[in-house]
Amino acid sequence: MERAATDFPLRVTRYFAGLMKKGDADDPLLRQVLPTRRELDPTAGYGPDPTGDLAAAAGPGLLHKYHGRALVVTTGSCAIHCRYCFRRHFPYAAHRAHDRQWRDLAESLAEKKEVSEVILSGGDPLTLANSRLRFLIERLQEVPHLDRLRIHTRLPVVLPARLDRELLSILTESRFRCVMVLHVNHPAEITTWLATALAPLRPAGVTLLNQAVLLKGINDALDTQLLLCEKLFDIGVLPYYLHQLDRVAGAAHFEVSRARAKALHEQMRCRLPGYLLPALVEERPGSAHKHPL
Ligand SMILES: *Cc1c(COP(=O)(O)O)cnc(C)c1O
Ligand code: SF4
Repeated sequence: MERAATDFPLRVTRYFAGLMKKGDADDPLLRQVLPTRRELDPTAGYGPDPTGDLAAAAGPGLLHKYHGRALVVTTGSCAIHCRYCFRRHFPYAAHRAHDRQWRDLAESLAEKKEVSEVILSGGDPLTLANSRLRFLIERLQEVPHLDRLRIHTRLPVVLPARLDRELLSILTESRFRCVMVLHVNHPAEITTWLATALAPLRPAGVTLLNQAVLLKGINDALDTQLLLCEKLFDIGVLPYYLHQLDRVAGAAHFEVSRARAKALHEQMRCRLPGYLLPALVEERPGSAHKHPL
């Protein structure tokens, strides 16, 4: 376990650890963060950059894969280290937008006239202090053809207090239409703390969506997925994507086969209203969109 944690250390917030059931080695939240020796098993077909991110580099920290949307790798930091993370081997030092490059970043985006949506990703963009986020968002606002700001974050799920009043005002004072895409994998991650922290966002016009990763032994049971989708709706969040695992080195033991994933998704379709069914997708390097399974 220590060896598995050398390159990608164990990291979790006290709050998230507090949601785990004591004494249960199979706890679905624990299993997302606890390094195991299985990460060291050599597995064919699993590599350091399963999503072809490096080939999509288009400026300082900028990934441009899809029409109309560009993604900014703002930081390599996260408040939690998910063992299945597809960017666990990402060379952040060379491929993220450092503060001193944020003006260059805005200039690169200014040249991409077809891009109307900018996605802040990472790492986790909400590990940035509010003052830095404000500065970054102000630079992005100077690009006239950008209309939408999307934030991909797991931080509210592992540290609900991060959604503070200042962050809310940064979003509402900007001219962007804002979307926040959370990353909740299991219904046990949905708490009254999270609900309370998210509550001011929707009235402020922020659209709330969720992406989850399908993980063997963690959320690959029908009941778990149904409860996840329903509990997300209870806190004002719509399920958006259910991702087939990206084949990143060290994560093979989390993979659910495509056939099982499709069967599970079919069962979900039979039980959920259409608006609560996330799209089951996988990332295919070089593709123009996330690929529906
Ligand atoms: C996933 C992803 C997006 C967003 O795709 P949507 O289908 O709009 O959610 C954009 N850029 C990159 C590089 C991505 O990996
Ligand atoms: S929060 Fe997201 S980027 Fe960070 S380790 Fe988890 S999956 Fe990876």
